[in-house]
Amino acid sequence: MMLKFNNVHIYRNHAKNLDFNVIVPEIQKYFPKISIEVRQPFLNNIDNVFAESLTSIRISDIKKPFNEQPGIKVQGKFDKNIVYEMNFPRQLIFSDINNNSSTTERQYKELILYDGFMMQRLLGTTINESESNTDHVHIVFEDRLICTFSEEDWRYHARTFVAGNPSIISTTGIVEAPAKPKEWYIKQMQLAIYDIDRDDDQIDGIFSSNVKKYIDYGDYRINFAAVGYAIQALFFFITEGDPFCNDINCRLYNAHWQEELLQSQIQNKGLCNKHDALLHQFNAV
Ligand SMILES: [Zn+2]
Repeated sequence: MMLKFNNVHIYRNHAKNLDFNVIVPEIQKYFPKISIEVRQPFLNNIDNVFAESLTSIRISDIKKPFNEQPGIKVQGKFDKNIVYEMNFPRQLIFSDINNNSSTTERQYKELILYDGFMMQRLLGTTINESESNTDHVHIVFEDRLICTFSEEDWRYHARTFVAGNPSIISTTGIVEAPAKPKEWYIKQMQLAIYDIDRDDDQIDGIFSSNVKKYIDYGDYRINFAAVGYAIQALFFFITEGDPFCNDINCRLYNAHWQEELLQSQIQNKGLCNKHDALLHQFNAV
């Protein structure tokens, strides 16, 4: 039994880097019969109590599970963490992650991480009761970087999205979570050895002969990735929780590398035969 929904509510992110005039019609092509509505950012005008809840789901030690996180003590509503959560644009402040950073960790150590499932639970508590049934799917585009704990290697990993209701798609996650091409890390290490400040132009130089093989901040291609993750979020319901596909030429491919993301969402832009058939079945009901 696939779950049938008729209404999709999409919440725009605060940073205005997504083009919903592109994203919504693209999703609608796949789901011509459902109603898709774009709303204000989900975390618009939050109060200081909610802001404190957000600080409580931050991850400051990526090598410990959620219940062992040290936690942040906030001192009243003018606490810098509360102010950070309540105001946009949020300044990137240094989080307290203490890692003896390997290269992969270094890439997002300046960003604050939030437990993705805890955030999903927190946002879920504020969804209006009339819209918290299976007929409604909520997709939240969010700039905060989410992560989930893996029991396989006992650490948190940045994530592009968590599926469910609501589904959260992290715009920062699209840039930070899938690994960049190997050459990028090699260049990063070289820069570190020579103690050169990270300079994006310099790093970009290694791809100068080509279009960049990864989505960076300010990259328009993030819109196509956003479409792909929204489709994955919807297939989460159609497939009863198992939306991913092994075919790299399918938009449901679970990309771990930026190059895979670009191939599955931009070069290809379609579904494999199996998922296409499933979509037809869904649309025919
Ligand atoms: Zn597929």
